[in-house]
Amino acid sequence: MATTVGPPELLEVATGVWAYVQPDGSWMINNTGLVTADAGFLMVDTTSTEARNRALLARVAEVAGTAAPRALVNTHHHGDHTYGNWLLPAATPVIGHVHCREDVLAAGLIAAQLFAGPDYGQLEIRPPDVTFSHRLTLHLGSRQVELIHVGPAHTRSDVLAWLPDDGVVFAGDLAFNGGQPFLLEGSLAGFLRALAAVRALEADVLVPGHGPVCRGSEIARVLDDMTAYAEFVAEVAAAGHRSGRPPLAAAQAADPGRFGDWQEAERLVGNLHRAYSELDGEPLGTRIPLPPAVADMTTMNGGPITCLA
Ligand SMILES: [Zn+2]
Repeated sequence: MATTVGPPELLEVATGVWAYVQPDGSWMINNTGLVTADAGFLMVDTTSTEARNRALLARVAEVAGTAAPRALVNTHHHGDHTYGNWLLPAATPVIGHVHCREDVLAAGLIAAQLFAGPDYGQLEIRPPDVTFSHRLTLHLGSRQVELIHVGPAHTRSDVLAWLPDDGVVFAGDLAFNGGQPFLLEGSLAGFLRALAAVRALEADVLVPGHGPVCRGSEIARVLDDMTAYAEFVAEVAAAGHRSGRPPLAAAQAADPGRFGDWQEAERLVGNLHRAYSELDGEPLGTRIPLPPAVADMTTMNGGPITCLA
C-alpha cells in the first residue's frame, strides 16, 4: 500500500457528469458520482466517515450549487457507500434496490465495527426510501439515468447507474480497480453474470466503486481482470471443497499469482466462504455471518484490518 495518499478528486468524466475518486480505494475508501442537468442534480452513493461525507458534500456544492439534490442513488448497501445518506436533506429521496434497504437496516453500523481505524464521527442509518426490483429510469431533465439491478454479485443489491447518452456507467463495487473483488455478501456465480452485463453496455467511461476511473480499453482490461480473478476463486474453491479443507486452509495453500499483488489480498478467504456456500448448494446470495469470515480475513492479513482515516 502507498505510504502517502492524495486527496479526493472530482473529475468530470463527461459533460456535467462527475466522479468523486478517493485514493487509494482500499477498505471503506470508495468513489461516488454526481450527475448534473438543467433540472437539478443527483448523486450516486455517499462515503464512509462523517468527515469524508462532509468533504464530499462541500465539493459537490462547489460544482452543483447548494440546492438539495433531486435524488441520491445507492449502488448497494455497504456502509462506505451509504453512511452519508442521513446527511442529505430529508426531501431528497434515497433510491436503491429493495435488498439494499433491507441490508442497510440489517447491517446497521457493523462495517464501522469490523473495519476500525478511522474516526467515523457521527453516523446514522438512513436506508433507501424509494426501492425497486429490476430496473428504474430517472429522467433528470433531458438526461437519462438507468438503474439496473445486476445482483447478487458483490452484494444482493448491486445496481448499475448507466447514462446511455453519455456512455458512463457507475459500476459500484462490481469493479475494484487495483483491489481484489469482495463477494462474501454476494455471489461468485452472479458476479460473473454481472460482469457480462457491464461489458454489454459498451461504456466509454466506467467509474469503479474503488480505484481510478477507467476509459476505453482500460474498461475491458479491468473487466477481464475481475473475470479472471473470479475464475481463480472458483478453481481454488472447487479443489478445497473437494478435499474437505476449510476456506482458510484452502486460501493459505493457494498460489494467488498476480492477484496476490492486488490490494486487500485477504479478501480471497472471504470469497472462498461465498464460493463454498454455492458449492454446498445454498441459494445465491444466502446470508453468511460476517464475523467468522472477517476473522479468517484478519488471519490472512496477518493482523487486524485497518482503514485509512
Ligand atoms: Zn461494497
